[in-house]
Amino acid sequence: MTSEDTIVAVATPPGRGGLGVVRLSGAQAIEIACGLLRVPKLPLETQRATRAEFCDPETGKTLDEVVVTCFRQPHSYTAEDVVEISCHGAPVILRYLVERCLERGARAAEPGEFTLRAFLNGRIDLTQAEAIRDLIEARTLYQARVAAQQLEGSVSARLKPHKEMLLDLIARLEAGIDFAEDDVAVMEWQEVVARLGRIRADLAKLVEGFDYGRIVREGLSLAIVGRPNVGKSSLFNRLLSQDRAIVTPIPGTTRDLVAESANVGGIPLRFIDTAGIRETLDVVEKLGVEKTFQAVADSDLRLLVLDVSEPWTEEDTWLLNKVRPLGSLLVACNKSDLPGRISPADLQRHLPADAEQGSAPPEVVWISALTGEGIPELQDKILALAAPARGLGPEGEFITNLRHQQLLKQSLQALDKARLAAEQKTPHEMLLLDLYDALRPLDLITGATYADDVLDIIFKTFCVGK
Ligand code: GDP
Repeated sequence: MTSEDTIVAVATPPGRGGLGVVRLSGAQAIEIACGLLRVPKLPLETQRATRAEFCDPETGKTLDEVVVTCFRQPHSYTAEDVVEISCHGAPVILRYLVERCLERGARAAEPGEFTLRAFLNGRIDLTQAEAIRDLIEARTLYQARVAAQQLEGSVSARLKPHKEMLLDLIARLEAGIDFAEDDVAVMEWQEVVARLGRIRADLAKLVEGFDYGRIVREGLSLAIVGRPNVGKSSLFNRLLSQDRAIVTPIPGTTRDLVAESANVGGIPLRFIDTAGIRETLDVVEKLGVEKTFQAVADSDLRLLVLDVSEPWTEEDTWLLNKVRPLGSLLVACNKSDLPGRISPADLQRHLPADAEQGSAPPEVVWISALTGEGIPELQDKILALAAPARGLGPEGEFITNLRHQQLLKQSLQALDKARLAAEQKTPHEMLLLDLYDALRPLDLITGATYADDVLDIIFKTFCVGK
């Protein structure tokens, strides 16, 4: 990969569409495009859409009417000369146009190479490049908003003051070493410890916010568990607001796992409706139950559904005991529209605090999948349980990226070592090593001092044309 090449790719998704865009970037981009297009006037105007004709080099005849837009460096996506040719979205024409560009000296772009160039040319930093990918992959508007904030540089802006404080500390300690013979009192140990504490506290907050950030970026899964006929499928449909699972009044008809995603509070929530985990001697059914149980165990959260129009059963207890050790659990008391045969006192008795694991009784929500009563409360509880740090701040205030979180953790570890060293009044030379160790991961987040393998990992996950 050299940035001297001019690269080309179809920038729109594969398949037929109203429009399809071929994008070129590099020193030869304008020349290559103009060689293939019949344009009313040369040179092409900058940042203006111009109608043109794509002439078939083999026949000399017009193959498509296109709109061409040219961006001259550095005011373009990649900070190089960029030409975007908007054709009709016929895959054969797009491919033919790309092939003609290749003939004229362009090279097929690698996945993410346009964005990589924007980064290498200094137009965006790494967190912004990652945000472009997240923006493209957003499934909810909320996810898109978070990514857009990061694209504006919110992650780097959030880290900047800490990097500066760290650099300031490093500079002062370095100066202390260089001018040691002048006996300048550089900084009291106490002051060093205090400053390190401040930097640490704030970075730690960012790391904690990642629990929520990860969910925002990746979504979460919720397994709906309950004995047959309590209303799992009805609830599943209610949560999805569509008829996906088959609802029937005969017990045990939802045989397979059904999974579907919905947007809950801006977070993609994947619901897994289970075939009903129950004790069985049937070999085939046992296999099914095991598969279901695995999915229930793998989910981020579990929702145990009860039917309050019937008394509490042994099977409810069996299911409760089975799912409770797996982690976060909510209980939905369904059919609240019918006369109740499970009372709050019954619930208290059947859902005790777990002394062994030291956990409080699971939260209970009264709902009716039939009328929709209690569903908003249920959704709120689901989000609150999954992401206690929700409402942490505006969209730009948390990190969503695992790479960022891991690097922040590395930085925190080094800061802890530095603080210990400062408390023990270790010579500055040693302390500085820890401080550099704390600074380096912060630089890697934004890409100030990037390594090739980091770039590889990030840009590999892009698609071609981005
Ligand atoms: P599943 O076996 O747990 O998936 O239960 P279904 O969703 O198939 O529901 C079983 C029966 O209970 C169906 O006849 C539903 O219409 C009914 N049902 C589900 N939720 C409610 C509810 O909230 N109120 C009432 N009255 N009936 C419900």
